[in-house]
Amino acid sequence: MTAINNKNLKLAMQKEGRLTEETLEFLRKSGLEFESYNQRLFSTCRNFPLEILYVRDDDIPDYVASGTVDLGILGQNILSEERPKVKKLLNLRFGFCTLFIAVPKESQINNLSDLNGKTIATTYPNSTQNFLLKNKVEAKIVTISGSVEITPALGVADAISDLLSTGSTLALNDLRPLTKVYDSEAILIANEESVASKNKMMLLNNLLTRFKGVLSAKNYKYILMSAPEEKLTKIKKMLPSLIFPTLATISKNGFTTLQTVIKEDVLWDITGKLKAAGISQIFVLPIEKIIS
Ligand code: ATP
Ligand code: ZN
Repeated sequence: MTAINNKNLKLAMQKEGRLTEETLEFLRKSGLEFESYNQRLFSTCRNFPLEILYVRDDDIPDYVASGTVDLGILGQNILSEERPKVKKLLNLRFGFCTLFIAVPKESQINNLSDLNGKTIATTYPNSTQNFLLKNKVEAKIVTISGSVEITPALGVADAISDLLSTGSTLALNDLRPLTKVYDSEAILIANEESVASKNKMMLLNNLLTRFKGVLSAKNYKYILMSAPEEKLTKIKKMLPSLIFPTLATISKNGFTTLQTVIKEDVLWDITGKLKAAGISQIFVLPIEKIIS
């Protein structure tokens, strides 16, 4: 295995877990080429001076804060819990989950103040304690390293505070949500000296431009359609070309080709109206990057 090149930027990501697949996909979409088969400790990018280190997600804040690596991708939840001295650079729009306080379905606890004097089991003691303090609730927090959801059934806790991406884990364990603590998603963090370093600035900016390009393209679609000429003005008005003008080109047999870039959720809102205005087919194309 080749050794780590110290002149390269270094990025730490989760080795094996919920964020791994989407992080790799995100890095590849950013145009980075690298091997990433299992059991690797790190990869060197073929086309960019970047080393990717595969580690446990809990170790990423320390690696970034200490400068072992320049960058890290991890859940916002870990940052909120550990509050390391690092700089948050970007929300990455994947790895969505929510820290919830939940109670057994049959529990008498129905609102926040009912938690006073009760025991809450969690892997996120600081996040949970801060939330309770803000809401003037005094409860006992028991820190557990895994399988928090079974603690009420074991009689260890009256409530839990745990990360969830869907409600199914709660239902499986006969729990119901009481309140949300916070929402989380994957984020990019950086070492504070790395972002201030002149030597690293050019590479970091290049990488950030790539990342932002992927992020801004994610919500947009390129659409193409053939519109009856007599309805052209009306149809153009329906297309909320937020950042891009609508191009009208190639007229044939009373139809004109329209092309524009719109937000995907807007597309679903206006499809019905476009059809009613005489558009029979809408071609929707993915956009790889929007570089600005
Ligand atoms: P590691 O072995 O790296 O320590 P882990 O078991 O602590 O892994 P995972 O369960 O793989 O961590 O979760 C990694 C991250 O995925 C979480 O910190 C969180 O940001 C995110 N995540 C998304 N959905 C969920 C979910 N339903 N439960 C827990 N975490 C989730
Ligand atoms: Zn972990």
